[in-house]
Amino acid sequence: MLFKELSEAFEELEKVSSQTEMIKILADIFKQANADEIDKICYYTLGETAASYKKVTLGMAEKIVQQSISLAADMDINIIKDETNKIGDLGEVAFTTIKDNDNRFKTFFNTKNGLTIQDVDNGLKKITMSSGSGSAEVKQKILAAMLTIASPFERKYLVRLVTRTMEFGVGEATVLNALASAFLGSKKEKPKLEAAYNLCSDIGLIAQVLDKKGLKGITKIKITLHIPMKPMLAQRVSKFNEIKQKINSTIIAAEEKYDGERIEAHKDGQTVTLFSRRLTDVTTQYPDIVENVKKYVKTDKAILDGEAVAYNDKKDVFYPFQKLMQRRRKYNVKEYMKEIPVKYMLFDVIYRDGQSLMKKSYPERRKNLEEIIDNNNLIKVANRRLTDNLDEIDEFFQECLDNNLEGVVCKSCSPTSYYQAGARKYYWIKWKKDYASELRDTLDLVVIGAYPGRGRRRNTYGSLLCTAYNPEKDAFQTVCKLGTGFSDQELENLPQKFKTLKKINKPARAEVLKIIEPTYYFTPKIVVEVLGAELTKSPIHTCAQDETKKGISLRFPRFIRWRPEKNAEDATTTTEILDMFKEQ
Ligand code: ATP
Repeated sequence: MLFKELSEAFEELEKVSSQTEMIKILADIFKQANADEIDKICYYTLGETAASYKKVTLGMAEKIVQQSISLAADMDINIIKDETNKIGDLGEVAFTTIKDNDNRFKTFFNTKNGLTIQDVDNGLKKITMSSGSGSAEVKQKILAAMLTIASPFERKYLVRLVTRTMEFGVGEATVLNALASAFLGSKKEKPKLEAAYNLCSDIGLIAQVLDKKGLKGITKIKITLHIPMKPMLAQRVSKFNEIKQKINSTIIAAEEKYDGERIEAHKDGQTVTLFSRRLTDVTTQYPDIVENVKKYVKTDKAILDGEAVAYNDKKDVFYPFQKLMQRRRKYNVKEYMKEIPVKYMLFDVIYRDGQSLMKKSYPERRKNLEEIIDNNNLIKVANRRLTDNLDEIDEFFQECLDNNLEGVVCKSCSPTSYYQAGARKYYWIKWKKDYASELRDTLDLVVIGAYPGRGRRRNTYGSLLCTAYNPEKDAFQTVCKLGTGFSDQELENLPQKFKTLKKINKPARAEVLKIIEPTYYFTPKIVVEVLGAELTKSPIHTCAQDETKKGISLRFPRFIRWRPEKNAEDATTTTEILDMFKEQ
């Protein structure tokens, strides 16, 4: 398929805002693509150049892209810079400045009919691979060559792709819907696609299997070493004694709930890959965990689930999440590794030596885990209390709080307590210290806008517009304006934090009523944990609107912390908020 055809579809996609229309456009293009192209089409639609868990660095800074446009347009770089200042979007700059002239770069690509998807993929791979001294010039020329051959619309999207500014308001859920519509005729079988995607989070690969082998191929997709799978999640209850009613198991395993970063470790001999909760590759972030998994996991191949927690080995105490976040850095990782040691607390094993353990009960998986871990100060199986008595769990919970932990995760020991990738069910129930105050749980909300500050806050934002995620509609619906709970430092940093996410118009997936329209809009990306006093019906918010158009809003919201480990789509869902509202 020609990249031109895809760009034309993108152009259409940009003009529509309804989910149904988007699905139709994408489904049409998926039907036309062959299996070697469809994966790339999925990635490009989502603004990526490869599966999102892969660490692909194109290294195309604004300056380099401007140079490419200048070369392809045969124009002085200063003109391109002026145009960038005027227009803002580099894609539009490429669209308007480059003309179809006889440019010397045309010879770079051996193509008569225009760029194919494969050509674009090759070009992007070359850009990614060129590194070291002189690489900026090579990258510039490769992009310039592609831009020269391309048509105006293709140029726009090529540039947006390399600058990672492609945004149609299409999320993974919409792509899955479009794949279902293209290959399965309807959304009915979509749960099977979702289940496969939960096991193998490479949407391009899922599309290829679907294209080549249909639904049969999809149901055969298995967990694979070095491809992340979605983690199992925990439900919440509003009253402590509901744990017993909901968990459907006489014996309950209350495990310590650690306040760190969820890490899925894949061990394959001496190769270890670590994935975050957002399923990004964080292997280089934790060289110590990599070493300890190699050393202390007594089996050749395994997929482990656990939490990396900042730890003071001298005092034998855990630190909270914020301390761990100081280790999040590109440089000096080793230095910080010594300053802030991390203990990897393991609570599950999903795969052991060629065998998936997903369909084994929690007690069986736990037994497997205990067999393969050589417990020590650096890596250890989670502490727990096994009991049928809630008072004992309460006692254990208090002990956890005394040990600087967040609370407990109660796990069902029933024969059907399987590992359920991506699912939030009552097999795991969390009970946290925050539950004792105000609302029983915090909400993880996505910031999509801000209002200017006044007085003391005149140089920063007064409040942020926060949304919950509606997976059915693939939309972000407003829940509250958040303006309290920030430290002075946090407040001051707000404009900087959201700088690169600013948008002129409302993001396509945001549902905002006119009456609370913010002054600034942001691409939905940053997730914030918020505690409030009460959920109430509100006519100005769009979250879980009822027949009378009344939504649900959060009263007296207070900033707790940022959740950099979460994607926008991992935010609290509108259904969860509706359930919490009903339970109040
Ligand atoms: P929270 O904000 O409450 O940490 P979350 O939305 O990140 O929750 P949930 O599935 O709701 O994720 O809660 C479980 C989380 O708690 C896991 O994602 C994991 O990171 C963490 N955790 C800590 N200890 C455990 C444990 N023993 N078992 C399972 N999860 C644990």
